[in-house]
Amino acid sequence: MTRTARAQDAVVGVDLGGTKTNAALIDREGHILRRATSRTPGRGGPGEIVRTVGRLVEQVGRHAHPLGVGVGSAGVIDHVRGEVVSATSVLRDWAGTPIRQVLEQWTGLPVVVDNDVHTHALGELWRGRAREVHSMLLVAVGTGVGASLVLDGEVWHGARHVAGHLGHIVSAYADGRPCVCGGWGHLESVASGPAICAEVARQTGEPVDRLQDVVHAADAGSAIETDALRQGALALGVAVGGVVNLLDPQLVVVTGGVTGAGPSWWTAMDRALRAELLPATRDVPVLDSELGADAALLGAARMAFERTSRV
Ligand SMILES: [Zn+2]
Repeated sequence: MTRTARAQDAVVGVDLGGTKTNAALIDREGHILRRATSRTPGRGGPGEIVRTVGRLVEQVGRHAHPLGVGVGSAGVIDHVRGEVVSATSVLRDWAGTPIRQVLEQWTGLPVVVDNDVHTHALGELWRGRAREVHSMLLVAVGTGVGASLVLDGEVWHGARHVAGHLGHIVSAYADGRPCVCGGWGHLESVASGPAICAEVARQTGEPVDRLQDVVHAADAGSAIETDALRQGALALGVAVGGVVNLLDPQLVVVTGGVTGAGPSWWTAMDRALRAELLPATRDVPVLDSELGADAALLGAARMAFERTSRV
């Protein structure tokens, strides 16, 4: 089979994040045939963001005649209508954007849209850690703390598209800190990358922009950075352990930028999680992502194949 013939049975997967947007041409076996990346013009407003996605779709789909487009986007997404329900200010005026409608007009292709944490879970389900399971809790800890619950092989979106907002449950470790959602003492305000940086900045009086700098200082033995990372890991582990008791998934996958903080972060998180588990859930596997950043692209592609097979 020639490469061109394979490409004709392909779709475009898009991972639209707060800082960058990735797109890839992906075949039915989940092979990435071509990829492109662009900075997300978050301050430019929805028109500019969707145009950026449209250009990336054209770029990776050129001469390949893709069957459709799948998009995983930051924000709360109405996956039925392909619209943004709400979003943080990182993507200006993103709420209300009819992503599917605009992209279908732009590309002339069928488009399907979901939240990016959900597409990450779909990627793990299709070609990653969760190939053999029917239920999974995927936890993404990076700029925020999100989750996706897979039940009977399907993402659970909730009654209002909000399911998975793990970062916005109360954590004893958050000590009443303000949260980006407007609440107080939520998990995200102690366990996310920006929260860990903010805690170090509060204690040292020096601004901290990158989690990587915190990790390097902790690796060099600095107590403030070590404690901030540990507090975040413990808070996440306790919360995820409680969710496992509530939902009893076959598998937990923990992914996102903060998991790159190294083995001591992972060990602290895993121990705190296991200390919470009921005896019957103690054998639940807790694994890292098999696909990394490609999971959301692959999950978006899987959605597009499912959509196009119904058309
Ligand atoms: Zn919150």
